[in-house]
Amino acid sequence: MSKLLERLRKASGELLVRHDGPLTRDLLLEPARFGLGRLPKRLQADQTATMVCGFCSTGCGLEILLRDGQAVGLAPATEYPVNLGMACPKGWEALTPLRGPGRATTPLVRKKGKLVPASWDEAVVEMVDRFKAIQDKHGPASVAWLGTGQMMTEELAFLGSLGKFGMGMVHGDGNTRQCMATAAVAYKQSFGFDAPPLTYADFEESDVIVLVGSNLCIAHPILWERVSRNRRNPKIVVIDPRRTETAMAATHHYQLAPKSDLVLFYAVAQLLIERGQLDREYIAAHTAGFEEFEKSVAGFSVERAAQATGLPKHGIEELANLIADNERVSFWWTMGVNQSHEGVRTAQALIALALMTGNIGRPGTGANSITGQCNAMGSRLFSNTTNLLGGRDFTNASDRADVAGLLGFHPDRIPSVPSLAYDQIIEAILGGKIKALWIVATNPAHSWINQSHLKDVLSRLDCLVVQDMYQDTETAELADILLPAAGWGEKEGTFINSERRIGLAHRVSRAPGEALADFYIFQLIAEAWGCGDLFREWTSPEAVFQILKRLSRGRPCDITGITDYEMIDRSGGIQWPLPEGVPPQAVERRLFEDGRYFTSDGRAKFFFAEPRPLPEPTSERFPLLLLSGRGSSSQWHTQTRTKRSAVLQRLSPSEAYVEISPVDARSLGIEPDERVNVSSQRGAVVARAFVTNGVKPGQVFIPMHYETMNQLTFAAFDPYSRQPAYKACAVRVSKLDPSLTPG
Ligand code: SF4
Repeated sequence: MSKLLERLRKASGELLVRHDGPLTRDLLLEPARFGLGRLPKRLQADQTATMVCGFCSTGCGLEILLRDGQAVGLAPATEYPVNLGMACPKGWEALTPLRGPGRATTPLVRKKGKLVPASWDEAVVEMVDRFKAIQDKHGPASVAWLGTGQMMTEELAFLGSLGKFGMGMVHGDGNTRQCMATAAVAYKQSFGFDAPPLTYADFEESDVIVLVGSNLCIAHPILWERVSRNRRNPKIVVIDPRRTETAMAATHHYQLAPKSDLVLFYAVAQLLIERGQLDREYIAAHTAGFEEFEKSVAGFSVERAAQATGLPKHGIEELANLIADNERVSFWWTMGVNQSHEGVRTAQALIALALMTGNIGRPGTGANSITGQCNAMGSRLFSNTTNLLGGRDFTNASDRADVAGLLGFHPDRIPSVPSLAYDQIIEAILGGKIKALWIVATNPAHSWINQSHLKDVLSRLDCLVVQDMYQDTETAELADILLPAAGWGEKEGTFINSERRIGLAHRVSRAPGEALADFYIFQLIAEAWGCGDLFREWTSPEAVFQILKRLSRGRPCDITGITDYEMIDRSGGIQWPLPEGVPPQAVERRLFEDGRYFTSDGRAKFFFAEPRPLPEPTSERFPLLLLSGRGSSSQWHTQTRTKRSAVLQRLSPSEAYVEISPVDARSLGIEPDERVNVSSQRGAVVARAFVTNGVKPGQVFIPMHYETMNQLTFAAFDPYSRQPAYKACAVRVSKLDPSLTPG
């Protein structure tokens, strides 16, 4: 009998009497109990199942064709309110990565320097023993986790609750820190809650669509399709240092200097104030802090903005006119704003423009962040990292008591401090305070800013546990213990998209080998840790959904009106909030139509900060600014999944490339398609030169999907959100020198 089972038997009378084989076999052989081996009845009966895509935050519905309960093909769902029958290449290929090479199919434990197969019992016991020994020696906060916006909401809640309430950890964060932390903090400060006000219908109902730092055509192609459905002949304004695909399709492109957007927005605000082009009634009735904001932006003349941005003065005036002269103006931003050293204040400058012109709470308006990952929003609400479950506050005793009461344990189990942010966890490892790390479904050894620093930090850990679908990611290869996980399509749960729509994903394919849904891995660990009693009610993702409903009651994200998964399925997803007793609502809903915000006085707040210089300006040695972003709609983040699809691979260059202007290429003697070195203070990489007018002289661009990219980036962070500023660092490009990048 396994050690784990012995522990389980002590911890769980229920399991004690029912099982006498190794636990994993029980899980695999007794599917009815764990919900692993069968589909819900409604799917067994149907030949298709509609489920939400597991890549990006657009949250498209995909119709899965089933044979004998297993997925054999898919097509975009025509009735789903998000995508209306459309999908990007990743969506069409969503099933392929499940069957691709590199899947983790059995637990692995490092022995004598090598990862060798182990049973689930051995791997989980090893993890638990090592984590406990470290905590005994260095305190509970010496073990931490890093999660993801790719897991289901129920799994995120389980990980966060297990980590903090069960295993006594204090610190855990997610890769949503890399994409949405800025928007989350901006909304929280301005609106009193992390509440993106939008619904995608706003794309179709705007007169002016202002896209800031967003290459919508590439990053969110289905949302671009929603823009194309706009019948109001909208002006499409793109504010971006690059001439992106979206900029090319726009009616107006303001190709400003990198990271000069804050100065631009303050100058536009000042112009609107000077000309009296404000919605004074809205400001007086629904906002607070406008007078201070007005005083703060007084010094932001058009001349100052022209100098900072490189835009002509008439261009800045034209932008102000577009905002002032149109009835419905919507502001949208993504990573160009979020991944900045002053991202929160930049997002809040856009929020200020929307508030002062009354462009919020009406069709076709809003200060709208577009999320990155499929479940960044679920992570923001329920991952229990920097916010306590349901957007509560760890430092607030009444919030802690509230959660403890709803979950049925003593409030002392809840830490009274919020987690360290991602970068602070890394620094705490470096400082010897965190000794063990559990990384779940994310690949920081590729994606974290200044990657070689991170790899060095990870190598200092006493124990690194990686839980992932694949055993060949840059991070998995560093693991001491690897736990094989099921992926999207192999498990059930909900995602929350950019417009707050909760969508359902089904289990339509069996995970390979011994891989288990993250949810059930957490169950195993809870039992082995000896805290399984805390999670007796957490029997399945749908059971946890009911717990999350309870936790949401009376909160801005109240979802008590959603009865169960079946209702989500029937409705084509449901946007939060939907409190119990509220009559059935429209399919698409926006927030703040009544002008009431979630702040204590019900008013939205204005914020201002003096713009700051670039963290790493160019120099004689590194004279070019390196920009980053998505490269194509067929690549996803670190390509962990998309590289398994031959179709997606054919749609994008397999080798890293650097976009460089013809002017810079000529002066450096670089020919198109030539291999070159790109170097920063952190290192040198090789990339193919893509000579294009898409970037201005003095700037270059490398897509984020290539592993080499973050060998170059400079670790700077927004002070409020701690989000990394990936978008601009100083580099040089030179003819290939093999001694710079051997091998
Ligand atoms: Fe999936 Fe996003 Fe593509 Fe839609 S746009 S199919 S959600 S990856």
